[in-house]
Amino acid sequence: MGLFNKLQTSIKENRSLEDRFFFVVVLVGLAIVTVSEIVTYMEDITYIANLGTAIGGVMLLLVMYEAYIRKKMETARIMLCYTFNCFVIPITFFTCGGIDSGMPLYMLAGIFTVIPILKGVHRLVCMLVSFAVDLICLAAAYYLTVNESILGDLKEKFLPGLSLGSRYVDVACSIILIGLYVMITTALVMDAYQKERTSREELLAKLDDLSKRDELTGLYNRRELFRFLEEMPAGDGHYFLCMTDIDHFKNVNDTYGHVFGDLVLRTLAGIMAEEIRTNEGELAARYGGEEFLIVVRAADKTEAMERIDRIRKRFVGKKWEEDDSLVTSFSGGMVCCAECKTYAEAISQADKLLYSAKENGRNRICLSM
Ligand code: GH3
Ligand code: MG
Ligand code: MG
Repeated sequence: MGLFNKLQTSIKENRSLEDRFFFVVVLVGLAIVTVSEIVTYMEDITYIANLGTAIGGVMLLLVMYEAYIRKKMETARIMLCYTFNCFVIPITFFTCGGIDSGMPLYMLAGIFTVIPILKGVHRLVCMLVSFAVDLICLAAAYYLTVNESILGDLKEKFLPGLSLGSRYVDVACSIILIGLYVMITTALVMDAYQKERTSREELLAKLDDLSKRDELTGLYNRRELFRFLEEMPAGDGHYFLCMTDIDHFKNVNDTYGHVFGDLVLRTLAGIMAEEIRTNEGELAARYGGEEFLIVVRAADKTEAMERIDRIRKRFVGKKWEEDDSLVTSFSGGMVCCAECKTYAEAISQADKLLYSAKENGRNRICLSM
Protein backbone atom coordinates (compact mmCIF):
# COMPACT_ATOMS: atom_id res chain seq x y z
CA MET A 1 0.00 0.00 0.00
CA GLY A 2 1.35 3.41 -0.96
CA LEU A 3 2.08 6.07 1.65
CA PHE A 4 -0.83 8.21 0.44
CA ASN A 5 -3.30 5.29 0.52
CA LYS A 6 -2.03 4.30 3.98
CA LEU A 7 -2.65 7.86 5.16
CA GLN A 8 -6.11 7.96 3.61
CA THR A 9 -7.22 4.65 5.20
CA SER A 10 -5.84 5.66 8.57
CA ILE A 11 -7.67 9.00 8.52
CA LYS A 12 -10.94 7.26 7.59
CA GLU A 13 -10.49 4.74 10.43
CA ASN A 14 -10.15 7.49 13.07
CA ARG A 15 -13.63 8.80 13.54
CA SER A 16 -13.87 9.87 17.20
CA LEU A 17 -14.24 13.58 17.94
CA GLU A 18 -10.69 13.74 19.36
CA ASP A 19 -9.28 12.12 16.24
CA ARG A 20 -11.18 14.42 13.90
CA PHE A 21 -10.09 17.46 15.93
CA PHE A 22 -6.53 16.20 15.82
CA PHE A 23 -6.71 15.87 12.04
CA VAL A 24 -8.10 19.40 11.64
CA VAL A 25 -5.43 20.87 13.93
CA VAL A 26 -2.60 19.17 12.06
CA LEU A 27 -3.98 20.34 8.71
CA VAL A 28 -4.57 23.90 9.93
CA GLY A 29 -1.11 23.81 11.55
CA LEU A 30 0.51 22.89 8.23
CA ALA A 31 -1.47 25.62 6.46
CA ILE A 32 -0.36 28.18 9.09
CA VAL A 33 3.26 27.09 8.73
CA THR A 34 3.08 27.53 4.95
CA VAL A 35 1.40 30.96 5.16
CA SER A 36 3.84 32.07 7.90
CA GLU A 37 6.79 31.04 5.76
CA ILE A 38 5.50 33.22 2.90
CA VAL A 39 4.58 36.18 5.15
CA THR A 40 7.89 36.11 7.05
CA TYR A 41 9.74 35.92 3.78
CA MET A 42 7.80 38.86 2.35
CA GLU A 43 8.17 40.92 5.51
CA ASP A 44 11.85 40.11 5.41
CA ILE A 45 12.07 39.62 9.21
CA THR A 46 15.07 37.26 9.42
CA TYR A 47 15.97 33.86 8.10
CA ILE A 48 15.72 32.76 11.79
CA ALA A 49 11.97 33.45 11.63
CA ASN A 50 11.72 31.23 8.55
CA LEU A 51 13.79 28.56 10.25
CA GLY A 52 11.56 28.67 13.37
CA THR A 53 8.44 28.21 11.28
CA ALA A 54 10.06 25.44 9.21
CA ILE A 55 10.97 23.52 12.41
CA GLY A 56 7.28 23.76 13.38
CA GLY A 57 6.32 22.32 9.98
CA VAL A 58 8.74 19.41 10.30
CA MET A 59 7.41 18.64 13.79
CA LEU A 60 3.85 18.60 12.48
CA LEU A 61 4.86 16.15 9.74
CA LEU A 62 6.49 13.92 12.38
CA VAL A 63 3.28 14.02 14.41
CA MET A 64 1.30 12.99 11.30
CA TYR A 65 3.74 10.16 10.66
CA GLU A 66 3.32 8.91 14.24
CA ALA A 67 -0.48 9.08 14.01
CA TYR A 68 -1.31 7.85 10.57
CA ILE A 69 1.60 5.69 9.50
CA ARG A 70 2.79 4.23 12.82
CA LYS A 71 -0.81 4.37 14.09
CA LYS A 72 0.23 5.58 17.55
CA MET A 73 -2.65 7.97 17.94
CA GLU A 74 -2.28 8.50 21.70
CA THR A 75 1.44 9.40 21.41
CA ALA A 76 0.74 11.60 18.38
CA ARG A 77 -1.90 13.57 20.29
CA ILE A 78 0.47 14.24 23.19
CA MET A 79 3.31 15.03 20.76
CA LEU A 80 1.13 17.51 18.86
CA CYS A 81 0.08 19.45 21.95
CA TYR A 82 3.55 19.73 23.47
CA THR A 83 5.22 20.39 20.12
CA PHE A 84 2.81 23.16 19.31
CA ASN A 85 2.81 24.86 22.71
CA CYS A 86 6.33 24.24 23.96
CA PHE A 87 8.39 24.52 20.77
CA VAL A 88 6.61 25.96 17.75
CA ILE A 89 4.88 28.84 19.54
CA PRO A 90 7.85 29.94 21.72
CA ILE A 91 10.29 29.77 18.78
CA THR A 92 8.01 31.67 16.42
CA PHE A 93 7.01 34.09 19.18
CA PHE A 94 10.60 35.28 19.56
CA THR A 95 11.61 35.07 15.94
CA CYS A 96 8.50 36.71 14.53
CA GLY A 97 8.43 39.80 16.71
CA GLY A 98 7.00 38.84 20.13
CA ILE A 99 3.97 40.66 21.44
CA ASP A 100 3.83 42.94 18.44
CA SER A 101 3.29 39.99 16.05
CA GLY A 102 0.34 37.69 15.51
CA MET A 103 1.86 35.12 17.89
CA PRO A 104 -0.17 36.00 21.02
CA LEU A 105 -3.24 34.83 19.09
CA TYR A 106 -1.50 31.53 18.38
CA MET A 107 -0.75 31.19 22.09
CA LEU A 108 -4.48 31.27 22.80
CA ALA A 109 -5.16 28.88 19.93
CA GLY A 110 -2.46 26.57 21.34
CA ILE A 111 -4.12 26.33 24.75
CA PHE A 112 -7.51 25.83 23.14
CA THR A 113 -6.10 23.01 21.02
CA VAL A 114 -5.07 20.92 24.04
CA ILE A 115 -8.58 20.63 25.44
CA PRO A 116 -10.42 18.66 22.75
CA ILE A 117 -7.37 16.57 21.82
CA LEU A 118 -6.15 15.32 25.20
CA LYS A 119 -8.08 13.74 28.05
CA GLY A 120 -7.88 13.55 31.86
CA VAL A 121 -4.55 14.19 33.57
CA HIS A 122 -2.71 14.60 30.25
CA ARG A 123 -5.02 17.45 29.37
CA LEU A 124 -4.63 19.24 32.70
CA VAL A 125 -0.84 18.87 32.79
CA CYS A 126 -0.37 19.94 29.15
CA MET A 127 -2.70 22.92 29.59
CA LEU A 128 -0.82 24.13 32.67
CA VAL A 129 2.59 23.55 31.06
CA SER A 130 1.49 25.41 27.90
CA PHE A 131 0.13 28.27 29.95
CA ALA A 132 3.37 28.45 31.96
CA VAL A 133 5.42 28.41 28.74
CA ASP A 134 3.33 31.30 27.36
CA LEU A 135 3.85 33.28 30.60
CA ILE A 136 7.59 32.66 30.48
CA CYS A 137 7.70 33.78 26.82
CA LEU A 138 5.80 36.98 27.61
CA ALA A 139 7.96 37.76 30.64
CA ALA A 140 11.23 36.88 28.87
CA ALA A 141 10.35 38.97 25.81
CA TYR A 142 9.59 41.93 28.08
CA TYR A 143 12.77 41.50 30.08
CA LEU A 144 14.96 41.10 27.00
CA THR A 145 13.46 44.14 25.32
CA VAL A 146 13.72 46.36 28.37
CA ASN A 147 17.27 45.20 29.06
CA GLU A 148 18.53 45.27 25.47
CA SER A 149 22.13 45.14 26.62
CA ILE A 150 21.81 41.49 27.70
CA LEU A 151 21.58 40.23 24.12
CA GLY A 152 23.72 42.99 22.67
CA ASP A 153 24.41 42.45 18.98
CA LEU A 154 22.62 39.13 19.04
CA LYS A 155 19.24 40.84 19.27
CA GLU A 156 19.81 42.83 16.08
CA LYS A 157 21.05 39.72 14.35
CA PHE A 158 18.52 37.10 15.41
CA LEU A 159 15.54 38.83 16.96
CA PRO A 160 15.24 42.18 15.25
CA GLY A 161 11.45 42.14 15.27
CA LEU A 162 11.21 41.67 19.05
CA SER A 163 9.67 44.82 20.44
CA LEU A 164 7.62 46.00 23.40
CA GLY A 165 4.77 47.17 21.18
CA SER A 166 2.76 50.16 22.28
CA ARG A 167 0.95 48.64 25.28
CA TYR A 168 2.91 45.62 26.41
CA VAL A 169 1.40 45.09 29.87
CA ASP A 170 -2.14 45.64 28.59
CA VAL A 171 -1.73 43.09 25.78
CA ALA A 172 0.14 40.60 28.00
CA CYS A 173 -2.53 40.76 30.72
CA SER A 174 -5.28 40.34 28.13
CA ILE A 175 -3.56 37.26 26.73
CA ILE A 176 -3.22 35.76 30.22
CA LEU A 177 -6.82 36.47 31.18
CA ILE A 178 -8.28 35.31 27.87
CA GLY A 179 -6.00 32.24 28.04
CA LEU A 180 -7.44 31.38 31.47
CA TYR A 181 -10.96 32.02 30.23
CA VAL A 182 -10.46 29.78 27.17
CA MET A 183 -8.92 27.06 29.36
CA ILE A 184 -11.71 26.97 31.92
CA THR A 185 -14.73 27.36 29.64
CA THR A 186 -13.57 24.89 26.99
CA ALA A 187 -12.56 22.34 29.61
CA LEU A 188 -16.01 22.62 31.20
CA VAL A 189 -17.76 22.24 27.83
CA MET A 190 -15.59 19.25 26.87
CA ASP A 191 -16.18 17.59 30.25
CA ALA A 192 -19.93 18.01 29.90
CA TYR A 193 -19.78 16.65 26.35
CA GLN A 194 -17.68 13.65 27.38
CA LYS A 195 -19.99 12.80 30.29
CA GLU A 196 -22.98 13.10 27.97
CA ARG A 197 -21.28 10.91 25.38
CA THR A 198 -20.30 8.22 27.92
CA SER A 199 -23.79 8.01 29.37
CA ARG A 200 -25.31 7.92 25.86
CA GLU A 201 -22.96 5.10 24.85
CA GLU A 202 -23.79 3.17 28.03
CA LEU A 203 -27.49 3.67 27.44
CA LEU A 204 -27.23 2.56 23.80
CA ALA A 205 -25.26 -0.55 24.82
CA LYS A 206 -27.91 -1.33 27.45
CA LEU A 207 -30.77 -0.82 24.98
CA ASP A 208 -28.95 -2.89 22.39
CA ASP A 209 -28.55 -5.74 24.89
CA LEU A 210 -32.19 -5.43 26.00
CA SER A 211 -33.38 -5.59 22.41
CA LYS A 212 -31.57 -8.92 22.01
CA ARG A 213 -32.83 -10.57 25.19
CA ASP A 214 -35.98 -12.25 26.33
CA GLU A 215 -37.52 -10.31 29.20
CA LEU A 216 -38.43 -13.27 31.42
CA THR A 217 -35.42 -15.55 31.08
CA GLY A 218 -32.62 -13.17 30.06
CA LEU A 219 -31.64 -15.56 27.26
CA TYR A 220 -31.42 -14.31 23.68
CA ASN A 221 -34.77 -13.73 21.98
CA ARG A 222 -35.98 -14.98 18.58
CA ARG A 223 -34.68 -11.92 16.72
CA GLU A 224 -31.15 -12.45 18.01
CA LEU A 225 -31.46 -16.21 17.49
CA PHE A 226 -32.26 -15.76 13.78
CA ARG A 227 -29.49 -13.19 13.37
CA PHE A 228 -27.09 -15.70 14.94
CA LEU A 229 -28.32 -18.55 12.72
CA GLU A 230 -28.00 -16.40 9.60
CA GLU A 231 -24.37 -15.63 10.44
CA MET A 232 -23.51 -19.22 11.37
CA PRO A 233 -20.96 -20.64 8.90
CA ALA A 234 -22.82 -22.97 6.53
CA GLY A 235 -21.48 -26.48 6.19
CA ASP A 236 -19.54 -26.44 9.48
CA GLY A 237 -20.03 -29.93 10.91
CA HIS A 238 -19.25 -28.77 14.44
CA TYR A 239 -22.52 -26.88 14.92
CA PHE A 240 -25.45 -28.78 16.45
CA LEU A 241 -28.91 -27.30 16.89
CA CYS A 242 -31.28 -28.58 19.55
CA MET A 243 -34.92 -27.61 19.99
CA THR A 244 -36.26 -28.28 23.49
CA ASP A 245 -39.72 -28.19 25.03
CA ILE A 246 -40.60 -28.59 28.72
CA ASP A 247 -42.66 -31.70 29.43
CA HIS A 248 -46.21 -31.32 30.71
CA PHE A 249 -45.62 -27.68 31.42
CA LYS A 250 -49.30 -26.89 31.23
CA ASN A 251 -49.79 -29.21 34.24
CA VAL A 252 -47.05 -27.36 36.13
CA ASN A 253 -48.83 -24.05 35.52
CA ASP A 254 -52.22 -25.52 36.36
CA THR A 255 -50.98 -27.15 39.59
CA TYR A 256 -48.55 -24.57 40.98
CA GLY A 257 -49.63 -21.37 39.22
CA HIS A 258 -48.08 -19.26 36.49
CA VAL A 259 -45.70 -17.46 38.84
CA PHE A 260 -44.10 -20.79 39.68
CA GLY A 261 -44.22 -21.70 35.97
CA ASP A 262 -42.18 -18.55 35.29
CA LEU A 263 -39.67 -19.61 37.94
CA VAL A 264 -39.30 -22.99 36.23
CA LEU A 265 -38.64 -21.25 32.91
CA ARG A 266 -36.06 -18.94 34.49
CA THR A 267 -34.37 -21.87 36.26
CA LEU A 268 -34.02 -23.88 33.04
CA ALA A 269 -32.75 -20.77 31.23
CA GLY A 270 -30.18 -20.28 34.04
CA ILE A 271 -28.91 -23.85 33.65
CA MET A 272 -28.64 -23.36 29.88
CA ALA A 273 -26.80 -20.06 30.30
CA GLU A 274 -24.30 -21.76 32.63
CA GLU A 275 -23.69 -24.68 30.28
CA ILE A 276 -23.45 -22.73 27.03
CA ARG A 277 -20.05 -21.35 26.02
CA THR A 278 -21.00 -18.07 24.38
CA ASN A 279 -17.38 -17.07 23.87
CA GLU A 280 -16.90 -20.21 21.77
CA GLY A 281 -19.76 -19.32 19.42
CA GLU A 282 -22.57 -21.19 21.19
CA LEU A 283 -26.01 -19.83 21.95
CA ALA A 284 -29.15 -20.51 23.96
CA ALA A 285 -32.34 -18.65 23.07
CA ARG A 286 -36.00 -18.69 24.04
CA TYR A 287 -37.80 -19.77 20.90
CA GLY A 288 -41.35 -19.51 22.23
CA GLY A 289 -43.35 -20.07 25.46
CA GLU A 290 -41.55 -23.07 27.02
CA GLU A 291 -39.48 -23.90 23.97
CA PHE A 292 -35.79 -23.14 23.85
CA LEU A 293 -33.26 -23.47 21.07
CA ILE A 294 -29.65 -24.31 21.79
CA VAL A 295 -26.68 -24.23 19.41
CA VAL A 296 -23.61 -26.08 20.65
CA ARG A 297 -20.24 -26.71 19.05
CA ALA A 298 -18.93 -30.25 19.36
CA ALA A 299 -16.48 -32.56 17.63
CA ASP A 300 -19.20 -35.13 16.88
CA LYS A 301 -22.78 -36.16 17.63
CA THR A 302 -21.79 -38.05 20.79
CA GLU A 303 -20.14 -35.00 22.32
CA ALA A 304 -23.06 -32.75 21.29
CA MET A 305 -25.47 -35.22 22.88
CA GLU A 306 -23.46 -35.26 26.12
CA ARG A 307 -23.58 -31.47 26.31
CA ILE A 308 -27.37 -31.26 25.95
CA ASP A 309 -27.91 -34.27 28.20
CA ARG A 310 -25.98 -32.51 30.95
CA ILE A 311 -28.53 -29.69 30.84
CA ARG A 312 -31.40 -32.19 30.82
CA LYS A 313 -30.02 -34.09 33.83
CA ARG A 314 -29.46 -30.90 35.83
CA PHE A 315 -33.06 -29.82 35.15
CA VAL A 316 -34.44 -33.26 36.10
CA GLY A 317 -32.35 -33.23 39.28
CA LYS A 318 -33.58 -29.79 40.37
CA LYS A 319 -35.24 -29.80 43.81
CA TRP A 320 -38.23 -27.48 44.05
CA GLU A 321 -39.12 -25.88 47.40
CA GLU A 322 -42.82 -25.81 46.45
CA ASP A 323 -42.98 -29.60 46.12
CA ASP A 324 -40.21 -32.08 46.89
CA SER A 325 -41.78 -34.72 44.70
CA LEU A 326 -42.04 -32.49 41.60
CA VAL A 327 -39.75 -33.61 38.80
CA THR A 328 -39.37 -31.27 35.85
CA SER A 329 -37.98 -32.40 32.51
CA PHE A 330 -37.78 -31.46 28.88
CA SER A 331 -37.59 -33.25 25.57
CA GLY A 332 -35.36 -32.28 22.67
CA GLY A 333 -34.60 -32.85 19.02
CA MET A 334 -31.07 -32.31 17.77
CA VAL A 335 -29.56 -32.04 14.30
CA CYS A 336 -26.12 -31.43 12.91
CA CYS A 337 -26.42 -28.09 11.07
CA ALA A 338 -24.10 -29.19 8.24
CA GLU A 339 -26.65 -31.90 7.34
CA CYS A 340 -29.30 -29.24 6.53
CA LYS A 341 -29.28 -26.83 3.61
CA THR A 342 -30.69 -23.88 5.56
CA TYR A 343 -31.16 -23.04 9.23
CA ALA A 344 -34.93 -23.11 8.63
CA GLU A 345 -34.56 -26.73 7.54
CA ALA A 346 -32.43 -27.44 10.63
CA ILE A 347 -35.14 -25.99 12.92
CA SER A 348 -37.82 -27.95 11.12
CA GLN A 349 -35.83 -31.23 11.42
CA ALA A 350 -35.12 -30.56 15.10
CA ASP A 351 -38.82 -29.89 15.65
CA LYS A 352 -39.72 -33.26 14.09
CA LEU A 353 -37.17 -35.03 16.28
CA LEU A 354 -38.56 -33.21 19.33
CA TYR A 355 -41.98 -34.57 18.43
CA SER A 356 -40.47 -38.10 18.29
CA ALA A 357 -38.93 -37.55 21.74
CA LYS A 358 -42.35 -36.60 23.10
CA GLU A 359 -43.93 -39.63 21.39
CA ASN A 360 -41.31 -41.92 22.87
CA GLY A 361 -41.99 -41.03 26.48
CA ARG A 362 -40.51 -37.50 26.94
CA ASN A 363 -37.45 -36.53 29.07
CA ARG A 364 -35.07 -37.52 26.27
CA ILE A 365 -33.18 -36.05 23.32
CA CYS A 366 -33.65 -37.50 19.84
CA LEU A 367 -30.81 -37.10 17.41
CA SER A 368 -30.82 -37.26 13.59
CA MET A 369 -29.17 -40.42 12.31
P1 GH3 B 1 -45.80 -31.32 26.32
O1 GH3 B 1 -45.08 -32.22 27.27
O2 GH3 B 1 -46.49 -32.06 25.26
O3 GH3 B 1 -44.96 -30.25 25.78
O4 GH3 B 1 -46.95 -30.66 27.19
P2 GH3 B 1 -47.09 -29.17 27.60
O5 GH3 B 1 -48.11 -29.09 28.67
O6 GH3 B 1 -45.76 -28.61 28.00
O7 GH3 B 1 -47.49 -28.49 26.26
P3 GH3 B 1 -48.32 -27.24 25.88
O8 GH3 B 1 -47.75 -26.66 24.64
O9 GH3 B 1 -49.76 -27.66 25.81
O10 GH3 B 1 -48.13 -26.23 27.06
C1 GH3 B 1 -47.28 -25.18 27.03
C2 GH3 B 1 -47.63 -24.29 28.15
O11 GH3 B 1 -46.63 -23.34 28.40
C3 GH3 B 1 -48.89 -23.51 27.90
C4 GH3 B 1 -48.61 -22.11 28.39
O12 GH3 B 1 -49.51 -21.67 29.35
C5 GH3 B 1 -47.26 -22.25 29.04
N1 GH3 B 1 -46.46 -21.06 28.88
C6 GH3 B 1 -46.03 -20.50 27.75
N2 GH3 B 1 -45.32 -19.39 28.03
C7 GH3 B 1 -45.30 -19.25 29.35
C8 GH3 B 1 -44.75 -18.29 30.25
O13 GH3 B 1 -44.07 -17.34 29.86
N3 GH3 B 1 -44.93 -18.47 31.59
C9 GH3 B 1 -45.66 -19.54 32.05
N4 GH3 B 1 -45.80 -19.66 33.36
N5 GH3 B 1 -46.21 -20.44 31.23
C10 GH3 B 1 -46.05 -20.31 29.91
MG1 MG C 1 -44.65 -26.30 23.72
MG1 MG D 1 -44.24 -28.51 26.56
